[in-house]
Amino acid sequence: MSAAAFRAGTVAVIGRPNVGKSTLVNALVGAKISIVSPKAQTTRHRLLGIATFAEGQLLLVDTPGIHGRQKNAMNRYMNRAARGAIVDVQAAMLVVEAGRWTEDDGLAYAALREAKLPCVLVVNKVDKFADKSALLPFIAEVTREREFAAVHPVSALKNKGNEALVKTLLSLMPESEPMYGEDEITDRSERFLAGELVREQLMLRLGEELPYSATVEIERFEEDGEMLRIAAVVWVEREGQKPIVIGKGGERLKAISSGARIGMEKLFGRKVFLETWCRVREGWSDDEAALRRFGYSE
Ligand code: GDP
Ligand code: MG
Repeated sequence: MSAAAFRAGTVAVIGRPNVGKSTLVNALVGAKISIVSPKAQTTRHRLLGIATFAEGQLLLVDTPGIHGRQKNAMNRYMNRAARGAIVDVQAAMLVVEAGRWTEDDGLAYAALREAKLPCVLVVNKVDKFADKSALLPFIAEVTREREFAAVHPVSALKNKGNEALVKTLLSLMPESEPMYGEDEITDRSERFLAGELVREQLMLRLGEELPYSATVEIERFEEDGEMLRIAAVVWVEREGQKPIVIGKGGERLKAISSGARIGMEKLFGRKVFLETWCRVREGWSDDEAALRRFGYSE
């Protein structure tokens, strides 16, 4: 008897902000390539996570959440990036939060139906339910009058249920040679990932409003023997925001920089020397030219 054929293909990861799409992609890839925080807008770009198994390879397209509000150029960019991910894929995961279905979940589902894609419903964060049977009415309600290829309750955070999910996803992929090498985990450059890790620290360490007014530009990314020398600029929209990012005596920017450096050293597997600055560019998040300069373009 011959072994089952290798399967490979692309899966879009769709859902509203904060349901755990990036956490799930990282768990399946086995490395932190996509940044995660409790705030919406953490993921602003489309990003490919490559997960290779003995039976096949999944190319997972992580996306900013699809949401109904389109306040400014940045929000429009993020919705475009999410909707664009549905093109040229073999299947989609609709990720939702266990026990909660909102209008934005409905929007994401509608976008997938329109694309006529096989859609796997991933009910994430089941670790929040001590009694798993409490999930059954939710799943019954959500799947009533909606079409899914399969339903998988998982905890991306605790890596529960992921094996069965991978099996289902691979079964939806065509027979194919692997498209990337076994050791490749993303299509994004180390330079891009470095900027994201600084932005993750902004999301985690700044209050409610400011992270949305900030972005990160990597000004320098150089190899120096075994180590990497990186210079990052945190761009904010107004002069008054600078002292908030920098903090008393520079403490906050120092903490941001050191948190990001630790993430980089783990991901890149080498020593990193990171310098971080804060500068102002008025109204960058609603300025198409500034958005392009900061990498927000398709
Ligand atoms: P995204 O916006 O959909 O990409 O969501 P993230 O991956 O950034 O996660 C949003 C928040 O939910 C973060 O605080 C995660 O730690 C948290 N989260 C993600 N997956 C799980 C899970 O399985 N269980 C729990 N309890 N929290 C999770
Ligand atoms: Mg995300």
